[in-house]
Amino acid sequence: MLYLDNSATTAILPQVKDKMVTYLSEEFGNPSGKYYELAENAKIAVKEARTHVANLIQSKEHEVIFTSGATESNNIVIKGVADYYSDKGKHIITTKTEHNAVLDVCEFLKTKGFEVTYLDVDHYGRINPSDLKDSIRQDTILVSIMWGNNEIGSLNDIKRISEICLERDVFFHTDATQVLGKLNIDLQFLDGVTFLSCSAHKMHGPKGVGALFIRSDEYGKLTPLTPLFHGGGQEEGIRSGTYSVHNIAGFGEAARIAKENFERNIYALEQLEAKLLQLLNEKFGNRIAYNSDSENKIPGIVNVRFKGLNNEILLKKLSPIIAASSGSACSSTKPSHVLQEIGLNIDEVRESVRFSFSPYTSVEDVDIFKEL
Ligand code: PMP
Repeated sequence: MLYLDNSATTAILPQVKDKMVTYLSEEFGNPSGKYYELAENAKIAVKEARTHVANLIQSKEHEVIFTSGATESNNIVIKGVADYYSDKGKHIITTKTEHNAVLDVCEFLKTKGFEVTYLDVDHYGRINPSDLKDSIRQDTILVSIMWGNNEIGSLNDIKRISEICLERDVFFHTDATQVLGKLNIDLQFLDGVTFLSCSAHKMHGPKGVGALFIRSDEYGKLTPLTPLFHGGGQEEGIRSGTYSVHNIAGFGEAARIAKENFERNIYALEQLEAKLLQLLNEKFGNRIAYNSDSENKIPGIVNVRFKGLNNEILLKKLSPIIAASSGSACSSTKPSHVLQEIGLNIDEVRESVRFSFSPYTSVEDVDIFKEL
């Protein structure tokens, strides 16, 4: 079976698994413990993982806060900023095509008296930076715009958006879950990015662990916000709770491998995507249409519309040989809001399928499309 749902989740790499097993078995210490070796070893594991994740996004190490995943990271930022800065203003800007881990948090905040502006996107799911410029107000406390879309792979112009937010002195959060390891993220050159969310399980790390980047000032102080969890004060007080050491160590290992193989992985994803497009075009010609742009997108995500075919029926039929999806795994019961926002009608949404590769997918395996 050819697994092409890597935007939903990925398989754990063997080195990641080995690393995790160590911290699930003999090295079971609590990093917050003192004086004895088990605690020290666990502390070292968390520190090493932090270094690897910071290297992958080019941040300072103490700016990386470990969380349970991107959903939690998004919640910490949006609710945490809303609470901490509500005296300054109650206006938040986001986009119509965010993941539900942003959209639903904003909807929740609306019930608490916040006002949310949802920016429109173009035909490929990108916001127009000048719309953002026009939407920022005196009382805007946060802009939250995803880097790469999980359903169609389109990329927002994060450099330009971060410049606008810096000029207007407003915090900028980006959900980078789908671009981690697939795009060169260099936070040293993106001063306007205040917060960034990411997750391990989209890049061959474990599920249930992610990170939140919080920019620090020249004295090393993190941008303040109200924590979601109060307790032991771990992770600079932003994320209390005993460290999930095996998950964090696994995330670190996945980040190290992603960084080391970055060029190779991008090349592999581009080759895989090119081959898929070639086979689909040969087989289906004008009976298909692409919902994804051909450029300026995350490599390895292709969203295709099979005209006249219902995607659920198609995916069920394909399932013994190809695993793909009709869109986001997190909201699979509803027709995709992303595809509707880029202009598809409900029928067209129901004809659309997302294929998403891993850099470890074998090119030969893609030949299975010849047999459809
Ligand atoms: N944001 C985006 C863009 C995603 O694709 C996902 C995962 N589908 C999430 C957030 C949620 O991530 P997690 O599973 O780590 O909570």
